Amino acid sequence: MALMTAGPLTLAEVRDLHRRWLAGSEFDIGYPNAVDFDVSMVQRLFDVTLNNVGHPFAPTSGFSGHSLPLEQQLIRELGVLFGWPPELVTGFVTSGSTSAIRAALLQARRRFRRHVVVYTSTAAHTCVAKVAEELCMRLQLVPAGLDGVMDVAALTELVAQRPAGAAVAVVATIGTTMVEAVDNIPAIHAALDAADVADDRRWVHADAALAGIPLAMLDSADRPRFDMVDSCNISGHKYLGIPMPCGAVLLRADRCLAADETPTYTGAPDLTPAGSRSGHTPLLMLAALRGFGMTGLRERAATCRRDAAALVELFTAADVPAWRHPLGFTVVLPAPSEQLRARWPLPPPDDGWTHVICMPGKRFEVYERFAREYLTDRRNTTSRHQSDHHAPDQPSSAPTPDADHREDAIAC
Ligand SMILES: *Cc1c(COP(=O)(O)O)cnc(C)c1O
Repeated sequence: MALMTAGPLTLAEVRDLHRRWLAGSEFDIGYPNAVDFDVSMVQRLFDVTLNNVGHPFAPTSGFSGHSLPLEQQLIRELGVLFGWPPELVTGFVTSGSTSAIRAALLQARRRFRRHVVVYTSTAAHTCVAKVAEELCMRLQLVPAGLDGVMDVAALTELVAQRPAGAAVAVVATIGTTMVEAVDNIPAIHAALDAADVADDRRWVHADAALAGIPLAMLDSADRPRFDMVDSCNISGHKYLGIPMPCGAVLLRADRCLAADETPTYTGAPDLTPAGSRSGHTPLLMLAALRGFGMTGLRERAATCRRDAAALVELFTAADVPAWRHPLGFTVVLPAPSEQLRARWPLPPPDDGWTHVICMPGKRFEVYERFAREYLTDRRNTTSRHQSDHHAPDQPSSAPTPDADHREDAIAC
């Protein structure tokens, strides 16, 4: 039987790991983690226990080792960012978007006494299906268009076929994982109107794991209608660059029923499904929001969009059918060879496509270097394919909204 290595983790080991992780993090261009958040301001709190138990909006009891008031502040600030009426904002931190979506669907299930069907698009994150299964909620997938956006006409049709009397929960995605497509929230409500779903028989959730904060800061013409949802979530380790997985769920206070509707010993109903929550991650997320500030958060997003646009241009100039949604950080492109994917950690090809994501703190030179290697790889792969008349990795369809690009992709 293997024994644990004796002795403490040495400083040298820690330094070595740190150096390797720092060096590697810059090359993780397929994953949406910002790398420019400076934790040093909050570092001194890492030698105290901060355990947030119970609802952050409930009066706190004697135990002092928590950061509940700051967790509440974080939720309130996110509420302001998303344009919610302050008196209707509640919520808490989670271990990431998956558990945030779980907490939101739990509220929907409770509100409709389990008589509810969940609808989400085929482009939604796989965690929605996982959570629906866990909560024993029936799930219906709605087709997404080639651009990754939920087909709302199909939503109406599917919702119209729901079991008699069933309520409807829709998980809209604000920035899909593969192409950063944004579902249209007013159109989803219109689709539910068309399928005769009353206001009090619907729950619309916005999964805004990555793109929520950057899109929420845009002018109203471009901003998703976060004010029209019952709940939404963000991941803290994505746009904010918090170094450990975390997230937050926002819930409309007027739509939530507590577990048993009786106040807990803290004097207020507890909506949190977890027991202990991190007391550090709300501090870190609050430190990121305050530290970057509105201006900084906007500028970081603008830089990512500029980089992504420049990268698309680099690829299209070389006849690669790369594309992006105009406000996205994600550049979608035909998957390169396995060898190149072993060098650059990109998501596994989805129907022949993959992506890179321009995130805050990652240097554009790294993306340029990737593009150079990609183009060489593509030339090599193409000439091989031409010589043996065999193209196993070619995309079978192009998820681009632009017909010209689509033809390119099929032809390439
Ligand atoms: C990353 C992501 C998730 C999952 O988030 P975790 O924080 O890893 O649980 C869910 N939805 C979308 C759209 C995502 O991009």
